[in-house]
Amino acid sequence: MGKLIKRFIILGAPGVGKGTQAKRLASHFGWVHISTGDMLREAIHEGSELGERVSSFVEKGDLVPDDLMGELISQRVTRADCRNGFILDGFPRTITQAEQLDLVMEGQDIILDGVLFIEVEDDEIIRRLSRRFLCGECGSIVIADNENQHCPECGGTITRRPDDDPETIRHRLSVYRRKTEPLVEYYRQQDMLFEIDGSGSVDEIFQRILYVMDEIKERV
Ligand code: AMP
Repeated sequence: MGKLIKRFIILGAPGVGKGTQAKRLASHFGWVHISTGDMLREAIHEGSELGERVSSFVEKGDLVPDDLMGELISQRVTRADCRNGFILDGFPRTITQAEQLDLVMEGQDIILDGVLFIEVEDDEIIRRLSRRFLCGECGSIVIADNENQHCPECGGTITRRPDDDPETIRHRLSVYRRKTEPLVEYYRQQDMLFEIDGSGSVDEIFQRILYVMDEIKERV
């Protein structure tokens, strides 16, 4: 039996289901789910100084500058609740951010256990994102045909994420290809990358991830 594994990155294009799977993994293994997208949206919603600095980037689907993100993540992963493990969702998104993370982890004397890379075809991503809504009451992600439907969890009103309109989706995908996809090679070279087929249902993908987790345990 290998050692306890507990620090992961979930990597993939927007819309591949990173957030959904990361939440599940966090509750399954007792890790903290760190979504930089959620942190930024919260800051924007609160109207904090950080929120004001990042809102135009997030709205347009552009990346928030690396120095700001590095600071944000270094403050977050060094918090006490991360000691039992964490899963990073949406960070790193550039090679510079990956290097920032390496430094922070080195400083804490901790290591990354793996990078779960979820792959889905572009057409499927666009199809999924155009049906993705957020519940204004409970914050669940709801798959629906339009905003007239209600949240199946709590009956709340659903709205589209402002950066999920078709044009911004296409822009986010192109930003992903240029800036984030090089991370696949970065982590592959470090023998950290675990590829997961992101097609099928949420449950099917989760089972594939658990299978990979078992493999990782055997390796360490
Ligand atoms: P997400 O919810 O992960 O799709 O993130 C939503 C938006 O937040 C992205 O389109 C970016 O504008 C911003 N964002 C989130 N994480 C990062 C990051 N690591 N680096 C730069 N921008 C980010």
